[in-house]
Amino acid sequence: MDRTLIKNVSIFDGTGRKPFAGSVVVAGNRIEAVTDATPADAARAEVIIDCGGKFLMPGMTEGHAHLSFDSFTCTEDLIAPPPEEHAFLTARVAKTLLDHGFTSAYSASEAKLRLAVAVRNEVDAGRLPGPRIRAGSLEITVSGGLGDESRLHNPRNCSTLSNATSPSLVIDGPEEMRKAVRLSCREGCDNIKLDVSGDPFYPHIPASCTTMSLEEIQMAVQTAHSFGRMVNVHARSIKSVQNSVIAGVDMIYHAEYSDEETLDMLEAARDRIFVAPSIGLFHTMVHEAEQWLPREVVEGMGIPALIEESVKTHTALRKRGIRHLIGGDYGFAWNMQGSNARDVKYFMDYYGYSSSEALVCATRNGGLAMRREGDLGTLEVGNLADMLLLDGDPLQDVTILADKSRIAMVMKDGNLHTLSPSLKSAI
Ligand SMILES: [Zn+2]
Repeated sequence: MDRTLIKNVSIFDGTGRKPFAGSVVVAGNRIEAVTDATPADAARAEVIIDCGGKFLMPGMTEGHAHLSFDSFTCTEDLIAPPPEEHAFLTARVAKTLLDHGFTSAYSASEAKLRLAVAVRNEVDAGRLPGPRIRAGSLEITVSGGLGDESRLHNPRNCSTLSNATSPSLVIDGPEEMRKAVRLSCREGCDNIKLDVSGDPFYPHIPASCTTMSLEEIQMAVQTAHSFGRMVNVHARSIKSVQNSVIAGVDMIYHAEYSDEETLDMLEAARDRIFVAPSIGLFHTMVHEAEQWLPREVVEGMGIPALIEESVKTHTALRKRGIRHLIGGDYGFAWNMQGSNARDVKYFMDYYGYSSSEALVCATRNGGLAMRREGDLGTLEVGNLADMLLLDGDPLQDVTILADKSRIAMVMKDGNLHTLSPSLKSAI
């Protein structure tokens, strides 16, 4: 088995422990040793990388990835590309994420059913560069819900279970839900995505309303879990979050609105549930999207008020020990793929996380969501060897995480994806 010694690094192991100077030994695709000194048997390593004191941390997980979204501004951009071109786009985004230090992508949903499935399979086979991928399904929604682009007068847009022409499967009732989930499982999806609440992009169903029924969510969870898959929900309203917790979903996205009862329910479920607020999209809509979304439009959609709700809810959830993940809804024109690590700073600015805690959200929590085996997301002996070497200390300045020029090495599954030329000479 090939051994790589990564020495002379400041190690942030992802557990929350303070960084310490030391070395990491990788054997095959797993971490064999993490020490605060150069291991005595260092000479056994085939490859030695002397990092000159740089910062080593676990690879990050994008917790709400849309691998098939790139610079889009409207739903039409998701519908229009033919599947062949869309598959190439998805593969490019996967590589972009890995280039930027995301060794895992937990996909929320995709624009076509098998885009992430196909790219995941190619990546796993070693034929394409990309992160570990849990492939998301299409959005599953109800008639009139988020993602139902059908209109009675427009036959092109009519979307049914057997003819999904919008980036959603539209179902009504538990039996149709059962079929939609089974279909997604059959086609290879790891994660099933449900649109449970409304959304500010859909004026007739604001974020505060709940479009999917408890019975439909319960059927989705029961069916997905029986196939060994996970369920993610788009849930902004109080009722949508509560019903999702009751039904036993695995990942909750957004969750802006809450009350004491909802916070209690989430806290009681904190060991089985993950939460990704996806604040980056709203932040950029308010501050960086003027070219596409004038300020009046953003205010008309109620985004500043939703940010206020998000701050209240997720600050409270942080204090209650909820496992937050970073990432979400990158791929819009104003929220570009590759800039996903900016979420770490948003977690500090909006929710009060320390830099170290926010990095744990980006690494350990993401790893736990990706693999229930508990062997991903921290630099500990026996874990999968996904890691990132930075030129600079993100605990002092987290913005360097989103600066690709500061990434000196990306390793995934024990393989070097990138290594800066200055370190190459040291091998
Ligand atoms: Zn999303």
